[in-house]
Amino acid sequence: MAEWEKNVRKAVPYIPGEQPKESGIIKLNTNENPYPPSPAVKEALEELSHRDLRLYPDPDASELVKAIADEYELKPEEVFVGVGSDDVLSVAFQTFFNSQEPILFPEITYSFYDVWADIYKIPYEAIPLNKDLTIDPEDYTLDNGGIVIANPNAPTGIYLERNAIESILKANPGSVVIIDEAYIDFGGQSCLPLIKKYDNLLVVQTFSKSRSMAGMRIGFAMGNASLIKFMNDVKFSVNSYTMNRAAIAAGTAAAKDTAYYKSTCAKIIRTRERVKNALIRLGFEFPDSRTNFLFVKHKTMEAKTIFEELKKRGIYVRYWDKPIIKDYLRITVGTSSDMQKLLDALAEIIG
Ligand code: PMP
Repeated sequence: MAEWEKNVRKAVPYIPGEQPKESGIIKLNTNENPYPPSPAVKEALEELSHRDLRLYPDPDASELVKAIADEYELKPEEVFVGVGSDDVLSVAFQTFFNSQEPILFPEITYSFYDVWADIYKIPYEAIPLNKDLTIDPEDYTLDNGGIVIANPNAPTGIYLERNAIESILKANPGSVVIIDEAYIDFGGQSCLPLIKKYDNLLVVQTFSKSRSMAGMRIGFAMGNASLIKFMNDVKFSVNSYTMNRAAIAAGTAAAKDTAYYKSTCAKIIRTRERVKNALIRLGFEFPDSRTNFLFVKHKTMEAKTIFEELKKRGIYVRYWDKPIIKDYLRITVGTSSDMQKLLDALAEIIG
């Protein structure tokens, strides 16, 4: 080890799902939306002046913040935007989780939470799920330095009712509670209305899933103005210009076209429900998903074998060789025709 290495901040990074370079792959491994974003996004990008790229973007991304605030009937001071919800969550961890007490999150959840906790030196306690993979709100009454819950949870897809979230908020007036609603538009009810009642609630959402814009990297948080101000103070202490001109323009156009994303979400939900029935006939079991993915386990065949066989056939799904979840595959809901190809391949593999 070189001498200087003793001062290096050593991180164990999050591993994102594979982004294959070959064409013709059916990509059901990173929960992207199979439909393109709103046509208004295309227009906004075409109107973007390349000459303006010499100028810095608006550091407040005010246009985008206002469009989001308008959609959710909030004041702009109640909205924070960032480079995907990963950036928003990372700023929120830095801003709100500064206690000696551990932060709490489920043992099986978005696997970035422990990565951020480690890099920001935040103590944490991963709370086991119930046997059926659900979250028990009663478990979140321990002393803590903050709470983060993905709702619906990932990768289980299981949705926690708003009153359960409210019971966690009631029990924790002394901590900031972050609810990561990356998948909320696929059938859950957002806990956003609770921000009026609980000034320690931060609701985080993304344009990556329901709005089909994973490639543009836009995420946002909603909460009372003082939470948002604290986050902006941290953001402006690290990087003033997080949102580039293209993201601001495209995101603003998308935020104004609510009808479009609601209709693509409805299509995905319809496909999901059809696929659920077909998977049951093939011998799969899964918790009820309110997301754009299914977390499935086969009655007899190992997840790893199915994963590898699908990959050979050009179909990518997600598999984790980790305790508790190694029997499961996470399958993103794609177009109806891609899902038919998946089902045909599964029928062949399972035989
Ligand atoms: N939260 C959860 C639960 C997720 O699954 C993801 C997607 N990987 C994210 C946040 C981050 O998404 P993005 O940065 O694309 O907004």
